[in-house]
Order: sequence, then C-alpha cells, then structure tokens
Amino acid sequence: MTTLRVPDFVHDSSLPPLPCASHRIDPDLFFPHWSDSTTKQLAEAICGPCPVRDACRAHGRDQRERGIWGGETETQRRRAVNVPRKGTSKRRVRT
Ligand code: SF4
Repeated sequence: MTTLRVPDFVHDSSLPPLPCASHRIDPDLFFPHWSDSTTKQLAEAICGPCPVRDACRAHGRDQRERGIWGGETETQRRRAVNVPRKGTSKRRVRT
C-alpha cells in the first residue's frame, strides 16, 4: 500500500484553488500509463498556470513520488535529479 505524503501547500488557505483540486479534474490524469502521452500532456497543461508549480515539482522530486507533480513526469523527474526508479537499486550488477 502506498501512502501519499501531502505537501504543505495543499493546506495553505491563502492560495487560490489548485487546478488539480477541481471536482472536474480526474485525479487519474496525474498518474497516466507511461505510454499515454496524451494524458501526460493534459496533466502538464493543467499544472502550467498553477501558483505552486515549483513547490509541487520540488515535492515530487524530494519524495520521489509517482505520477505527475508540478507538470513533471516521473521520467523527467528521474532525469532531472538523476535517481533510479523507485524500488530499484542504485547499481545494477551485470552477470
Ligand atoms: S502543479 Fe501540483 S498542485 Fe498544481 S495543479 Fe499540478 S499537481 Fe496540482
């Protein structure tokens, strides 16, 4: 079971409503299949004008979250911080 660590900005009442929190947005958009580029682009577009985009992206990187955070996919995040996929070792041993 995965526990979602909610970033602090989610509870900041001084912020305008976050785009992803709209009841019209399907949360699954932020967890697309790796090959579903259409859904990824839609989620990235939703994140585009978000006022906490940088903080959200930082949370995704710091917590090595799955899905799209701050408009950044898991692949983009791994490349940006050069970390391996969650659940894999840092080194692979060739046999
Ligand atoms: S940047 Fe983060 S908080 Fe903002 S819409 Fe995207 S997922 Fe939601």
